[in-house]
Amino acid sequence: TTTQETDEDYHSIIKNTERGKGPSDKHEFQAETRQLLDIVAKSLYSEKEVFIRELISNASDALEKLRYLQMTGVEVADGDTPLEIHIATNDDKKTFVIQDTGVGLTRNELVDNLGTIAKSGSKAFIEQLKEKTEATVSSNLIGQFGVGFYSTFMVGDNVDVYTKSYQPGSPALKWSSDGSGAYEVSEAEGVQRGTKIVVHLKGDSYNYAKEEVIKDVVKKYSNFVGVPIYLNGKRV
Ligand code: ADP
Ligand code: MG
Repeated sequence: TTTQETDEDYHSIIKNTERGKGPSDKHEFQAETRQLLDIVAKSLYSEKEVFIRELISNASDALEKLRYLQMTGVEVADGDTPLEIHIATNDDKKTFVIQDTGVGLTRNELVDNLGTIAKSGSKAFIEQLKEKTEATVSSNLIGQFGVGFYSTFMVGDNVDVYTKSYQPGSPALKWSSDGSGAYEVSEAEGVQRGTKIVVHLKGDSYNYAKEEVIKDVVKKYSNFVGVPIYLNGKRV
C-alpha cells in the first residue's frame, strides 16, 4: 500500500477554535453519578477502548436525531452543515477528540444528560453495584452494561464538551469536568452546531492519542454508523 496522500483524501470540519468564555457555573454531580464515576475512574477493566464505541454511538444518535428533524421540516441552525463524525488524535497534547454535527445540547440538556444518570444501562449498573463489592463490579460490569459518556473517565483525567444545539439562537457552551465531584458549565465561542468532546488522556492511556491505535478500534465500530467517520481528516 502507498502512504502517499493528496489533498483530495483529506477532509475536516474540525477547526480548533473552541474556547470557554465568561464565568462558569459549578454543579455537583448527582450522588449516583459520583458513585458511578468513582468506580469507572478506578476500574481495572481492561477493555478501556469501549469509550470509543460509546462516544461514536452518542454522536451517531445525535446525527440521527438531526436528520429526523430536517426530514420533518424543523428549522435547524447551520442547516447546510454536512452530517459527519470527525475524530482527531493529538500525540503531543495527548488528547482524543470526537466531533459531530448532530443536535447538540442546550444548557438544560447538558445539566440533565451529563450530570445525572438517566440511561437504563447505567441504572442497571448502579443496581448491581448495590449488591456486589467494588472489586467484582469493576472488572466485568462495565463491559456488561456499558456506562455511556462516563466511560471517557476510564481514560481521561479531564473531559471538555463544547456544544451548540440545533435550535436557532442557542448559545455555544462548554462543559468541563475532572470526573470527581463536580463539573462546570460556561458559555463558549468558536463552536459549530453539534458536539465536540475533548478527552485529556491519563498517563496509562496515552495510546489513545495514537492514530494507528484508534484506526482499528474505529473500524470495528463504524459498521453500525450511518454517517461518514473521518479520522484526522481521512475517511475511515
Ligand atoms: P445514552 O446514550 O444511553 O443515553 P450516555 O451516557 O451515552 O447515555 O449519554 C447520555 C446523554 O447525553 C444522551 O442520552 C444524550 O442526551 C447526551 N449526549 C451524549 N453525547 C451526545 C452528543 N454527542 N450529542 C448530543 N447529545 C449527547
Ligand atoms: Mg450513549
